[in-house]
Amino acid sequence: MTKKPDKKNFQLSRSLDWVLIFLSVTAIFLLFLSPSWYLPIILLVLAGLAILRFFTARETDRQQASQIQTADLLGRFPETNPNPVLYLSSEGQIAYANAGCKHFLKRFDLPSDPAKLLPPDLANRIRQLRQSGQACETWEYTIDNHFVACQANVQNDGLFLYITDISARKRMENELSWHAYHDVITGLPNRYRFQQDLEKILRRDQPCHYTAVFLMNIDRFRFFIGNLGYWLCDQLLHAVSVRLRETIETNPLSDQIILYRFEADTFALLLKNYQEPELPKKIAQQLIESLHQPVYMDHREFCVTISCGISVYPTDGTDFSTLLHAADLALQHAKKRGGGVWQLHTADMDERTRHRLKLEGYLRHAIEHNELELFYQPQVSLKDGILTGAEITLRWRHPEHCLLKPQEFIPLAEETGLIAPISEWILRHALIQHRAWQTRDFPPIRLAVNISAQQFHQQDLPQLIRRLLQETQVAPHFLELELTESAAMFDINHTVVVMQQLKELGVQLALDDFGTGFSSLAYLRRFPLDTLKIDQSFVRPMDKEEDAAAIIKGIISLGHSLRLKVLAEGIETQAQLQRLRDFECDEGQGYLFSKPVPGNVFETYLACGKFEIG
Ligand code: C2E
Ligand code: MG
Ligand code: MG
Repeated sequence: MTKKPDKKNFQLSRSLDWVLIFLSVTAIFLLFLSPSWYLPIILLVLAGLAILRFFTARETDRQQASQIQTADLLGRFPETNPNPVLYLSSEGQIAYANAGCKHFLKRFDLPSDPAKLLPPDLANRIRQLRQSGQACETWEYTIDNHFVACQANVQNDGLFLYITDISARKRMENELSWHAYHDVITGLPNRYRFQQDLEKILRRDQPCHYTAVFLMNIDRFRFFIGNLGYWLCDQLLHAVSVRLRETIETNPLSDQIILYRFEADTFALLLKNYQEPELPKKIAQQLIESLHQPVYMDHREFCVTISCGISVYPTDGTDFSTLLHAADLALQHAKKRGGGVWQLHTADMDERTRHRLKLEGYLRHAIEHNELELFYQPQVSLKDGILTGAEITLRWRHPEHCLLKPQEFIPLAEETGLIAPISEWILRHALIQHRAWQTRDFPPIRLAVNISAQQFHQQDLPQLIRRLLQETQVAPHFLELELTESAAMFDINHTVVVMQQLKELGVQLALDDFGTGFSSLAYLRRFPLDTLKIDQSFVRPMDKEEDAAAIIKGIISLGHSLRLKVLAEGIETQAQLQRLRDFECDEGQGYLFSKPVPGNVFETYLACGKFEIG
């Protein structure tokens, strides 16, 4: 505000100058009227004083004049300031409010009352400021959702308040802090927030309450990236996160559950403060089932599954790293079980993980050490018992674990990428064997090879098959490729394209384990199939349960109506065989005829060419 005393000093010094001038003129005048000896002396003294005054005062005057001008401008500053400036009296009443207050309130669409600009707890803030003994302080608060900063300056008994709108800065700060703790693709809190939250929970000592840590991984995500690219995979992640979030919201305990995007294809979840030990299992099951309905993206539908590993505080650990490690181990075990399942951490998991790593090391050398072997299971015509083909199933003669079945190492091969060279090896050796049997004049039969989902969707399978058929000179119709229903439904459009390319080569196609996947009959029509293989889980109970028999009957007539050959897997009893024949099932395979056998044993079936089926 203006410094009035300075202006007065300036005016006083100007008056003194005028007095000096007046005295000098009077002295000169008197000299002319009555010249005397002392008057020139007085005149000289006055002139000297005037000259001295002139030189010393000129600079000071100039400085004073400029100070007065600045003070004048500052005095007008609150009026011209576009931001609100207020002066509060010692009683906290508004004694002055500039025009900026009105404009500010108008911009916020608030009534033109300067009191609206003050923080709601003003009295408290003033008291604290005075108690602190400081001359000024900055308060931040909101006015109708707008962030403001108010600089409060103590001035005698009163208080000057300078208010500025800091909404833009606050928004920027909030955005930066959001990005630090959230994932952009899914909008979920990220792993840093997950760690903070879990550590906060663990700091509170609540021994009678549990907290569960879930790690949920999208199965075959690498495979999705290979087929869809990163952009669509981001959409897939988003779609999965929405599905999981929706499922959590329907849970009555949703306020105790937090979902995070942990990293790449992994989500984390915290289930806080629960008491019912079975709760994590139920929630995990709900989340897994929520993805049983396909996910829609880019006008296509995808069947996505997740695997879930769970660790529980305090049973599996009491600190962040131990709980996370335990959940991760459990997740790896869920994956090993084929994915799409949950797994709670158990104490023996560390040992099992060591075993798995060892197995992986051996599997890498299985081909070069000649440890893989093809087994053949006869496929028989149910009309007359004629041997029509063989399904090839893989065995691994592991140096330490004798003969391993595919379930024990195929998922591992898929995860480690070893499935590609292994699959090529199987196909090549199956065709070489077929060629060898033909040259030895065995009747030519169809050989069915199992194709894993990863191989079907990732490798250029038609190209590989074309090359191998040329190499081995086997007629394409002797080769049948078995694809499981769930692998076929994984990316339906891609399945149709690859199947058509394979059909153009002349190979046969079978849909394996029919009835166990996400059957969609509408899509079945689009696949250029030759054979429908009814899963053994339907065949097993058919002689005891009438429902199972009815389902089989239905599948057979469905297959026939689509002009497909129907083959029943896992026939073990004569009664099952009889009913399947009654239902006019075309072909069958199972222990009743033979288990999968090595090539030299299978040659005896080839030589005979027929099974006795009564
Ligand atoms: P799948 O294609 O359904 O193969 C049939 C499985 O059922 C074989 O088990 C076979 O031994 C078994 N089986 C056949 N008849 C009966 C029966 O009457 N009773 C019982 N209890 N079981 C019967 P295996 O050889 O252990 O193969 C299991 C699965 O592993 C196969 O199921 C297939 O999906 C996969 N697999 C096998 N070989 C290969 C392979 O070379 N490559 C790939 N990618 N997967 C393979
Ligand atoms: Mg099969
Ligand atoms: Mg099968």
